[in-house]
This record gives sequence, structure tokens and C-alpha cells, in this order.
Amino acid sequence: MSEITTSTGNEPDAAAPHQRLRLSFDLDVDIAVVGAGLAGLTVAREAARLGASVAVLEGRHVGWNASGHQLGTVMPGYGLPIGELIARIGFEDSRELWALSMEGAEYVRATATEELIPGIALSEGALEVSNVEAGDQLISRLQMLGEDFATEVEGWQVDRVRAELKTDHYFHGVYYPKAFQIDGRKYVHGLAALARRAGARIFEDTPVVSIDPSGIRKRIVTPSARLRASHIVLAGNIHLGAPLRRLSETLLPVWRYAATTAPLGDRLAEAITFQGSVTDSDGIDHFRVVDGDRLMWASPETTWAVNPARFAPAIARRMRTIFPQLGPVEISEVWSGAIGQTVHGMPQIGQLRKGLWVASGFGRHGLNTTAMAGQLIARSILWGDERWRLFSPFELVWAGGATGRVAGYAIGLWGRGSSALAGRFARYRERAQAQERIREARLAEANRQAGTRQPPRRPPPGRPPPRPRPRAPAPAKSGEGEGAS
Ligand SMILES: Cc1cc2nc3c(=O)[nH]c(=O)nc-3n(C[C@H](O)[C@H](O)[C@H](O)COP(=O)(O)OP(=O)(O)OC[C@H]3O[C@@H](n4cnc5c(N)ncnc54)[C@H](O)[C@@H]3O)c2cc1C
Repeated sequence: MSEITTSTGNEPDAAAPHQRLRLSFDLDVDIAVVGAGLAGLTVAREAARLGASVAVLEGRHVGWNASGHQLGTVMPGYGLPIGELIARIGFEDSRELWALSMEGAEYVRATATEELIPGIALSEGALEVSNVEAGDQLISRLQMLGEDFATEVEGWQVDRVRAELKTDHYFHGVYYPKAFQIDGRKYVHGLAALARRAGARIFEDTPVVSIDPSGIRKRIVTPSARLRASHIVLAGNIHLGAPLRRLSETLLPVWRYAATTAPLGDRLAEAITFQGSVTDSDGIDHFRVVDGDRLMWASPETTWAVNPARFAPAIARRMRTIFPQLGPVEISEVWSGAIGQTVHGMPQIGQLRKGLWVASGFGRHGLNTTAMAGQLIARSILWGDERWRLFSPFELVWAGGATGRVAGYAIGLWGRGSSALAGRFARYRERAQAQERIREARLAEANRQAGTRQPPRRPPPGRPPPRPRPRAPAPAKSGEGEGAS
């Protein structure tokens, strides 16, 4: 194998064409945003467009973590499968949340144009494939997505799937013609440029070390400056740390590893003709063809940071497990990013107390959901749009720490619903639970085949982390359901 480029997220992205500015003077603004990932940058851009003075404080640099290391697949939906969403909050609210997730995807589409972000390379269509023969489930899923959730979808029979992906690992598929993919790294830097253009100021190498959210004007301390703001938006994902440790501890950090091969020539076209993104229904593999004849693939996950270079062989093995006809594949780049998973599988979006907002926990479905969150929060602050309250049932889990309150909420809805609707929910839920058990077993098997082991456990708070073992990790329980990476 020739030299592999490794990206851990710790080094600046060469694609970032701006000079970094650090906050070294005290500042007063309307809105301070902590974190220059997709979530923070979207809030900043939208709030600045609506006329607010905005400062973004980023501890490292724009797109340092997951946002600068994603695969660029934009699909509707959330990590939580629709069936479970319905079981928790009922049919009507689920539909509204689903519609918001589609609005998020449309926001990305409207932003990711060649005019606004040159080189963004948007292409259409994504395919979710089933790892098992499940034609009956496919039909009910298509009905639910198409009829109940107004999402354009096509059912692909096994033959059609296998004509495009020449492997016997996959069976039926759900094709999303309105889903799309973009150059993910260009998007986050393009978004930062658009936020600046709208008037937001972005300060990098500026970690927020403490926050005093009391009072009308809230205070933020950074190593070399202080800042006052009427609103603070916490968009730091798992790295938020000291300023609100209790909040970051509500997220399970999951490191996801991805790689791009060297050019594979004709053998790639012989194995894969589908040009959009492919995800499997168990959320194990996510891949697509890039630059004509390279394969970009995300698969293993760990719950502790590991040097991504260690995963190059495992990812190459995984590619060959699914597409043996590829023969030996040479990995040219491997990278990782950490996503934040919530207990309930839904993002954390909303107001913690007056003027203190949170936008995090986007899991592997970050492109559409961060866009949605950014718009919702900016519009709530500046226009009084209250739709973020649809996420309130999910807030309860992390704010009160009481999972039971969510269950109680769902049961309450259940009781109030008609028996017909309750029966429908029950069937969705039963299916979702069965699918989740199967998915977990498959994820464990996929990691076993890829040669990964059980993840090192997170150390208890206050104790120094153990050094990662030389041959690490294995499956993190992800609870992801619909779509993306
Ligand atoms: C390999 C991989 C592939 C993926 N592929 C896809 C995909 O194809 N489609 C999709 O929809 N999603 C995908 N995702 C998920 C998506 O990348 C994430 O959900 C999304 O980027 C999360 O954005 P964020 O802004 O919440 O967090 P982050 O990207 O983590 O940004 C948070 C920022 O806050 C900063 N910060 C934290 N604390 C502080 C502090 N105290 N002071 C100052 N700054 C702070 C951090 O430095 C960081 O830059 C993928 C993720 C990975 C890892």
C-alpha cells in the first residue's frame, strides 16, 4: 500500500481559503455562537442575514470535527427510525418533524449551488439497501414514506439493486430521487464564507472556557477576551466541555472512520454503476463513487478516538467483503470525525433558559438536521418562530435526565389517540424494535468481519482516559435508522 493521507480533524483543511482570526479584544454582540461546525455556521449565517450582529467562537478551526469530515450525503429524516418517532410523539408531530427535516435538506440544496460554493459538485439520488430479503417491509416503508410523509421514493426490486450494485449482500432498495450528495468539506467552508458575507464574524483558535448565562446580557470568557451577548447558541457538539459539561455529557461520542481509495479504473465500474450515495438499512456501510473511479466508504465506529490510519486495512477489507470482484484496493486517504449521539436518537434543538440555546446531537444525519436547526433557532430568536418546540419531547431526556418522562409522554399520546391509530403505531413500533435488534447484530458481525474488537470503555468522569489499545474498537451502539452516514 502506498502512502496514506490521514486526517484526524486536528489539522487545518487546506481547502479553507481564509486567514484565521482569533478573538483578542472584548466584544458586544446580539448573538454569540459556540462552535463553527455545520450547526453553528448555519445559525450564524441565518441570524446575520436577518440583521443580528453575530460572533462565532471556534476553539480550533472551521469544520475541525465531523462537519469537515463527512461524506456529503443529504437525505431527509433523523437518526431515529420513523416508526419509533411515531411511537414516541404521535403521527401528526412526526409528520411535522419529518417535513422540517426535508426543509433542512432543501436549505442545503439551495446553498450548495456552484454559484454560491464553486466546486460543490452536487449530484442527485441516494439508495438505501436492505441487508435481508424483506420485500413486505419495503412495501409498507414505501407507503409510509410516500403517502404519509410526502417523500418521493421508489422501491427497487432485488434485480434492479443488483444491476447497479453487483453484490449478493443487498436485496431490495429504497431510492430517494430527491436526495443528493455534495463535496462535504467544500460545503462547510463555503457555509463559513457565506456567513461572513452575511456579516457574521468568525473567530478561530478561540475556545470558550466559561459561560455565565444569567442576566439579560450573557457573558462568555475566552483565553484572551470577553464577550457579551443577548443570546448564546451552544453548537459545540461533543467537544463543548467546560462551559456546560453536563450538556456535553448527554451525548455519546462516536468516532466514525472513512476512507477513499486510489483510482480503481474499470473494475469499479464493473462492480458499481450507481452514482449516488448508498447506505444500508442497518446503518453499517455508507459509500459512493467519487472522481469517476474512486470509492469513498465509511464504516467502522468506535466510542473512543483512535488514529484513523489504523482503520485503513479494515475499511479496505470491508469493501472487498461486499464487492470481492474489486480485488485488492489501495486506500489513499483515511479520516475520522466524532458525532454526538443522543439517548433518544433525535437532535437537541431548543432553548435551555432564556437566551441560552442548544443545537447539537445530530448523529450521522447532520447535513439536513444542522441546516434545519440553524434556521429554526435564528428565526426563533429574531422572528419568534416557535417550531423548535416540536423537539421538546426529546429535550426532556437530556434536560431532566429522565428517559421515563419521554416514555410517559409517548404513552400519554398513545392513550389519547384513536384505537386505529394506536394499532398503527404499535405495528410501526414492533417493526422498528425488531429491526433495531437485527441491526445491532449485523453491526457487530460487520465489525467482527472487519477485524475490529470491542470498544474501550469511556473512563468515568474525572479520571484520566486510558491509552487506546493498539488494535482497537468495535461497534458503538448507534440507534441510527433512516438514511445518511
Ligand atoms: C465519517 C463521517 C461521515 C459523515 N457523513 C455524513 C453524511 O454523509 N451526511 C450527513 O448528513 N451527516 C454525515 N455525518 C454527520 C455530520 O458530519 C455531523 O452530524 C455534523 O457535522 C455535526 O455538526 P456539528 O456542527 O453539530 O458538530 P461539529 O462538526 O463537531 O462542530 C462543533 C464545533 O464546535 C467546536 N467547539 C466545541 N466546543 C467548543 C468550545 N468550548 N469553544 C469553542 N468551540 C468549540 C468544535 O471545535 C467543533 O469545530 C458524518 C460524520 C462522520 C464522522
